[in-house]
Amino acid sequence: MFIVLILGIIYFFQTNFLDDFYRKSKENTLEQVADNIANSLSKEDANSYFESVGLSNEVCVRIVSNNNKYNNPGACILRSVDSNTINSIYRDVENNNGSKMFYNFVSYDGFPIAREVKDMLVYGKSININDSPVLILVSSIITPLNATISTIKSQYFIIALIVVVATIILALIISRLMIRPIKKINDESKNLSKGKYIGEDIKCINKEYDELNRTLIEANEDILKADKAKKELLANVSHDLRTPLTMIEGYGEMIRDIEEENNEENINVIIDEAKRLSYLVDDLIDISRIENSKLVLHKSKISLYELVSDVYRQYEKYCESQNVFFKLDAQTSLQNVYVEVDVNRIKQVLYNFINNALNYNDKDNQEIVLGVEDNDGLYRVFVKDNGRGIKQEDVDNIWDRYYKVDKTHVRNHIGSGIGLSLCKELLEAHELNYGVESVLDEYSTFYFEIKACN
Ligand code: ADP
Repeated sequence: MFIVLILGIIYFFQTNFLDDFYRKSKENTLEQVADNIANSLSKEDANSYFESVGLSNEVCVRIVSNNNKYNNPGACILRSVDSNTINSIYRDVENNNGSKMFYNFVSYDGFPIAREVKDMLVYGKSININDSPVLILVSSIITPLNATISTIKSQYFIIALIVVVATIILALIISRLMIRPIKKINDESKNLSKGKYIGEDIKCINKEYDELNRTLIEANEDILKADKAKKELLANVSHDLRTPLTMIEGYGEMIRDIEEENNEENINVIIDEAKRLSYLVDDLIDISRIENSKLVLHKSKISLYELVSDVYRQYEKYCESQNVFFKLDAQTSLQNVYVEVDVNRIKQVLYNFINNALNYNDKDNQEIVLGVEDNDGLYRVFVKDNGRGIKQEDVDNIWDRYYKVDKTHVRNHIGSGIGLSLCKELLEAHELNYGVESVLDEYSTFYFEIKACN
């Protein structure tokens, strides 16, 4: 569009003003040549100067003086102008303050001085040299430009046509390759919040568009994943809340209505279920704190041995009651190895590892080892079980929030089991390396690695 506009402007000027520009430039040349000659008349070699200036500017020069002192070199149309015409020109020039441009130059008797020339410009300038008048005449033939203008017109028409066609083709190509994909991306992105961005069939040759499209596809997948996981979580949490509440309600009513049922065992059931509820609520609060970036660590120094043996004691009795072989594998020398952590948070991580070790084990001879391994000053704290193990393809995902290998919800035996994503956040907040090693149907070892602070 822009190019066509520029071409149009050039075309307009060339066809309408070319003739005027040409005439104006010829007039300027004649005036300049006459001025230069006037300045050089007093010089010794003035004659040779007229010749060169006339030739170089393609103009005809004639100097008229009383003493015919100046040569008028070369064949020049002005040479044939008779003396009467010269006198009439001189008068006109004098009456016009010493200089005049003559258009359609005619002789004093009314005939064009050069019949063979269609159009001619003559510039006359009068000066005085040593009190004697001198008339400088300079002329130039004006070539008619009609033919040139019509050539330019047809050339411009062809050029304009080529430019318009090329511009349309280019615009179509650009629109197909550049604008269409971004328009499609833009249209599709309106569905992103609903997780309905479809970008796979958008072809982009531009690298940045392609990256944008890929990012939006990934964002869409994340939205779908989070949405699905949230629905699952809601379903699981409501299930986990309902079960202890039903138990508490049922046992409470039983104790109230049947006197013999008012015993320690039944009251303990109510207390256990209330504890379970409290675990669940605590985990939910933690997750919401982490999501709102409000988790603050309260670090203190603790010996590694004290840390793991505290956790061990928490589960010792329970595992015994469940016939689970539970072992602490930590050297007592670790009593002198101190680490700086938020003790409650790190214990929470280990509780989650142990709860999972208990939950995801269907074998009769359940075994769990809580241990510390010294790898040249880097201490690996681990929980190893002989449970169902984790498939290699699931290993990376289990740390994701709400991810479950087995999609059918099984109520956890201890704690809420929202777990590993919380562990991940807590360990990352401590800047600790962590992971899992597992073989399906054989074992899983969850661990984190920590350096001593002393
Ligand atoms: P939840 O226990 O509520 O499913 P987690 O985040 O604690 O949530 O665990 C995520 C998933 O990792 C579990 O669903 C389970 O499939 C798998 N997992 C965790 N710990 C173990 C383990 N010790 N053995 C086998 N699978 C495990």
